[in-house]
Amino acid sequence: MAHLPNFIQKLIDEFDKLPGIGPKTASRLVFDLLHRKEDIKSLADNLNIAFQQIHLCPKCFNLSDDGLCKICSNPNRNKKIIAVVAHNQDVEALEKTGNFQGTYHLLNGLLSPLEGITPDKLKINELEKHIQEDSAEEIILVFDQSMEGEATTIYLSKHLKKYPLKISRLARGIPMGANIEYTDEVTLSSALENRKEI
Ligand SMILES: [Zn+2]
Repeated sequence: MAHLPNFIQKLIDEFDKLPGIGPKTASRLVFDLLHRKEDIKSLADNLNIAFQQIHLCPKCFNLSDDGLCKICSNPNRNKKIIAVVAHNQDVEALEKTGNFQGTYHLLNGLLSPLEGITPDKLKINELEKHIQEDSAEEIILVFDQSMEGEATTIYLSKHLKKYPLKISRLARGIPMGANIEYTDEVTLSSALENRKEI
């Protein structure tokens, strides 16, 4: 789009990098925003605040504004039970069920050898440290029903065998191919409650 000012093309390129947004949607969002000057200001200010304030919890790698996240620092959460998840949106999905009182550990992805995502690329050493520090008694593997989710479940269930803990996974009921973040609360809640030891 050579007829446009350079900053507009740059903005479109930035939006295009976001998941689920192609170049067409990116252009539409940018053109729409450009006609709403007040909203751009608010968006820019909030992005700037997020950029300056966002930290990752040093224990579970959830988002935090400083130090331990709200879940790790909550005395009412059971530190002996850790749900291991791939992404932030999985934490959101489990929190929405209102049926999980344990804590989390975010791996920052799932194993995918084809895409070069090997165990060293995930927060697995950090998970082991987390297990030891909190003397965890149960690890629940909460991953998407996908090849990557399955590969990660198998790897972790073997890798964590050396620790004296129960390793469980969600009960069947979540269809193959389903993402945790799009699974409805009732299904997720019941899959969690009926989790199976591996
Ligand atoms: Zn945390």
